[in-house]
Formats: sequence, C-alpha cells, structure tokens
Amino acid sequence: METLLPSEIRDYLLGVDDEELFRIADKVRERYTGKKIYLRAIVEFSNVCRNDCKYCGIRRSANVRRYAMSVEEIVKCAHYAEDLGYGTVVLQSGENTLYDSKIPEIVREIKETTKLAVVLSVGEKSFEQYLEYRLAGADRYLLKHETSNSELFYRLTGRSLERRLECLQNLMVLGYEVGSGNIVGLPGQSVDDLVKDVLMFAEWDFDMLGIGPFIPCPGTPLERFPPGDVMLTLRTIALSRILTKNAHIPATTAVRTVLGEDKAHLVFRCGANVVMGNVTPEKYRRLYRIYPGKVCFFQDPESWLNEIKEQIRGAGLKPSGEKGESLKRKQKATNLEKGLYRDTREAELKGQDTRQQT
Ligand code: SF4
Repeated sequence: METLLPSEIRDYLLGVDDEELFRIADKVRERYTGKKIYLRAIVEFSNVCRNDCKYCGIRRSANVRRYAMSVEEIVKCAHYAEDLGYGTVVLQSGENTLYDSKIPEIVREIKETTKLAVVLSVGEKSFEQYLEYRLAGADRYLLKHETSNSELFYRLTGRSLERRLECLQNLMVLGYEVGSGNIVGLPGQSVDDLVKDVLMFAEWDFDMLGIGPFIPCPGTPLERFPPGDVMLTLRTIALSRILTKNAHIPATTAVRTVLGEDKAHLVFRCGANVVMGNVTPEKYRRLYRIYPGKVCFFQDPESWLNEIKEQIRGAGLKPSGEKGESLKRKQKATNLEKGLYRDTREAELKGQDTRQQT
C-alpha cells in the first residue's frame, strides 16, 4: 500500500480496518525512519499572543497570566536541554512582536554555545524576518496549517489560510526544514477535510508533521464542543506516515494527553518517530495552557525523559538524542548524487506525482 486513492484514505479514516492500517504504518515507519525515536526538547518561552484562535487557551482574549522569558532564561533552557542529552531544541511561543528583534540574538547565542539544532515555532512573520532568523542560524521552522479547509481556518482563527501557506512556502524557499500539521476533530471539520490534509502533507513534502486531536479548553468559545476522536487522530497519523514515508512525525503532546503519557508507545506503533520533552521552567510551563490536562505540566524534565526512554525501549525501539535532521533532505541529496532528482522533477512537471511512489 504505497499509494492511496482519496476514497481509500476516507475509508481508513472512517475505520474500515484499523488493524491493517496501523500495521502498515508501523512497517513504513520502520522501513523509512528505522527504529530510532528522536527526542526533542521544547521551550515554551512566552504565552503572549496577538491572535485569537477560538480553540486556544492562550488566545489574546483569554484571561490568563502572561509571561515572557528573558533572552538569558531561554538560552539557559537550551543549555539544560543539551546537558540532558537532547540534540534539538524547539523554541515556541504565541505569535507576538515582543521577540521580533530578540530571536536572532537568541538563536545566535544558542548556536554559538551549543551543538543543538534550533527549531523556531513563533508563527507568521514576514519573508525578511524569516530570512533574518535563518541567517542567525535557525535550522527548522514549525507552522501548522491546522486545517486545509480555508473557510473553517478563517472561522476559527480569523486569519487567512492563503497567508499561512505563503509563509510555509517562504520558509521552504529559505532552506528551513519545514514542519506543518493539523488539528483533528475541530468543530465543523469533515472527514473530507482530513483527506485533504493528508494529501496536502504528501504533496508539500513537509520535513515534519504535527498531528493532534482538538481538546476543548475552558474559557474559549469552543469549550463546549466534544474533543477530537483519538482513534481518528491515530488514523490520520498512520495515513500521513504511509503517504509521506520519511517525514518526522511526533507523538504530539496533545495526543499523549488524550491517550495518557504511559501509552505514547502506541503512537509510535501508528507511525510516529519523534517525541518532545518540555524543558520550560515549571513556573512558566503551567501558564502555557493551550488546552487543559496537558501532560508534563508538573513532571520534572529529567524524570520524564527517563520514563519515555524506558517506554521507547519497552516497545522495541531506540531513543535517540541525535539532531535527527530531515530524512527528506538526506534522501534528496542522495537522489541528487545519483542523478535521480532530475528524473523526479521531470516526472513531476509531467504531472505524475512520483513523490508518493518512492
Ligand atoms: S493557536 Fe497559536 S496563534 Fe492561535 S491563539 Fe494560540 S498561540 Fe496564538
């Protein structure tokens, strides 16, 4: 099952054969990404956000205590992550302008004083800003498109999907390893929207994908809607693995929150190959409450890391603190060496999407 028709994706999303789907996704993960589960550290350095996404607990109009970590605090967290054995640090915040001029300084300082790969997840910025961050040394960028239904995107975020996709395109042009992703089970989202999401993941050939269920957050306009179905989320992960082959796909905090932290191994068996550990100081961590019950709110980063490593080994997999660069880049570089890239491009231009067949 190397390629799938939209109707087949739909059937699998509806649960026609979970056992088969998960078995194949697990095999594809093993074949294309091996036994390693990459560990990344995440620092949630500010919950200040200028946007008002209806599903988010730190939206502009949410009544929460705001924080903004200093440059020194953020860099210290990165050092801590490296001491714990991580090879990658993700710097995440709400979308704000407070750090626009500080991000290059933060990235530069981390790159000069550690061996870490630096991932930014700070929202929509101008091409020039993305360029500035890239020149400072940022390696990767996460910007989820949330849903490929543009009307729903606008209804829930008050923003334009077109602009979001333009940002993703700019990031690709600038040579970042780029991650997108979606939320499964958003109020108003259809199964066909999810089919489109999965097809988009394959078409755009993202280096990373974050897929998590909708979790209603008290105090938001969507607080009374039912949560996204966890099985539907696992099916979306499995299908994304099968179609994208070697994208880095985390067992997201949201899916682990719904399943229970002791069941992260189930997500790996559905195709995930990455997990993120939160190294934000505890006094701030609990304020980055995008949804309730978030795992690792209170657990100390070191004991969490030991537990997740045990769980990974228990599932017959290998925890890895390597940087875990994009496997897609590596594949493209190899293809280039072998002269295969040109053939792939030519086939693409002829309208045959070979990316799903490799
Ligand atoms: S989802 Fe992101 S951009 Fe939207 S309100 Fe929350 S932090 Fe801000």
